[in-house]
Amino acid sequence: MTTSGGIVIVGGGLAASRTAEQLRRSEYTGPVTIVSDEDHLPYDRPPLSKEVLRSETDDVTLKPAEFYAENDITVRLGSGARSVDTAAQTLTLADGSEVGYDELIIATGLVPKRIPSFPDLEGIHVLRNYDESVALRKQAGSARRAVVIGAGFIGCEVAASLRKLGVEVTLVEPQPAPLASVLGEQIGELVARVHRAEGVDVRCGVGVAEVRGAGRVETVVLGDDTVLEADLVVVGIGSRPATGWLEGSGIEVDNGVVCDNRGRASAPHVWAIGDVASWRHDTGHQVRVEHWSNVADQARVLVPTMLGQEPPTAVSVPYFWSDQYDVKIQCLGEPQADDTVHVVEDDGRKFLAFYERDGVVVGVVGGGMPGKVMKVRAKIAAGAPIADVLG
Ligand SMILES: Cc1cc2nc3c(=O)[nH]c(=O)nc-3n(C[C@H](O)[C@H](O)[C@H](O)COP(=O)(O)OP(=O)(O)OC[C@H]3O[C@@H](n4cnc5c(N)ncnc54)[C@H](O)[C@@H]3O)c2cc1C
Repeated sequence: MTTSGGIVIVGGGLAASRTAEQLRRSEYTGPVTIVSDEDHLPYDRPPLSKEVLRSETDDVTLKPAEFYAENDITVRLGSGARSVDTAAQTLTLADGSEVGYDELIIATGLVPKRIPSFPDLEGIHVLRNYDESVALRKQAGSARRAVVIGAGFIGCEVAASLRKLGVEVTLVEPQPAPLASVLGEQIGELVARVHRAEGVDVRCGVGVAEVRGAGRVETVVLGDDTVLEADLVVVGIGSRPATGWLEGSGIEVDNGVVCDNRGRASAPHVWAIGDVASWRHDTGHQVRVEHWSNVADQARVLVPTMLGQEPPTAVSVPYFWSDQYDVKIQCLGEPQADDTVHVVEDDGRKFLAFYERDGVVVGVVGGGMPGKVMKVRAKIAAGAPIADVLG
């Protein structure tokens, strides 16, 4: 039996919740359905590598059940979308039921990458969802030595949280420094310094060759033959868009659902938002962003466009943050690893840096400098010359 119609959002995270909320705020009165493969109401992911992992909170639900009831938003949990027929405008869910749609919004986020050559040993974790965070913290409670593989944002945050829990941590990264592929080597070194000061053994320029153990993980062997003892391993090597269920649908996927600059996908009445969506950028390139603030920015454009209303014209300056110990790293703008980096403040732990491209300030990155980062927003939005911020 086919049910529903109206606007159907596939995904149970921030993008699903925000989009549904934005639809009601925009006075759309037709049916809105969220279809999620998780058993939890949409929740916030940033605390999973921070407060949830450290047992400081379990309260991550974005909106309570009453919110969805009061706003007449149907939330179908526990059975994800398995396929979509864009001609018939129907979804088939994992439980075999069919859901029809007038407009479909894809908000399925990411799937964490694993290392296929690793044996199936207890003690090896990835971190993308709530249940994985709870499983990791349960083991962290009795773990002595952890190896975190990959020093991207999630790997660095997990390393920081595990240190706070008293676990000895080795952070392994094949790039020359943590976060080097995103923020460049210079800032990566400043981040490595913070971790080393907290007692993390940061090993860059080397990968992991294998893990060994009998039933559960015991050692991690690095590419340079170093053998590290470990009773906990966290694989933080990035994620890929959760688009497997779109295979054969004809919807174009290329490192995410390919969309125009307002979230329209290649098939009629199909849209995509959040971590899974690759939107066309002003430069003409497709860009997929894996950060929290981007979701609201995109919802503010996608929803009015879909409803035939005018989206806002104000430029939103991309922003993200990462909490590591007492240092909140904040990035505003679009810094890239190959930009010229001007470190303008550095007290041995906290820092502030401007990113320059073609003589223009394109980004600012601060570690423990909240007020100073946000002050640069207007300059970045205006494409100001770098000299304006270097003063
Ligand atoms: C541990 C962690 C820490 C983070 N910390 C920060 C931070 O400090 N700062 C920051 O800016 N960003 C952070 N982020 C990123 C931020 O959380 C994401 O950008 C945001 O969650 C994206 O929302 P989303 O809805 O697009 O994807 P998600 O939140 O991943 O939601 C996707 C949902 O879709 C569901 N789904 C997948 N496939 C299907 C299917 N076929 N059918 C139905 N449902 C499906 C998934 O189970 C999930 O519930 C963090 C992310 C993680 C994982």
